[in-house]
Amino acid sequence: TYVVQDNCIACKYTDCVEVCPVDCFYEGENMLVIHPDECIDCGVCEPECPADAIRADTEPGTETWVEFNRKYAELW
Ligand code: SF4
Repeated sequence: TYVVQDNCIACKYTDCVEVCPVDCFYEGENMLVIHPDECIDCGVCEPECPADAIRADTEPGTETWVEFNRKYAELW
């Protein structure tokens, strides 16, 4: 899965949402999140993010962000 990290906070762009083929972005409290079970790992959103906030969960340090993204995505 891909995850959104905190440099998304207060970002006003939704370029990522527009390119996602499975609509797995959701709104968190002050940032967007990706539902980890719905993301198909296509990677299309990562280069679209102007805040450089999207990471693959294969990158180090993303573990807690996966759970954070899941928590807020599942509120919907
Ligand atoms: Fe959507 Fe693909 Fe990004 Fe996953 S990697 S959130 S499926 S655009």
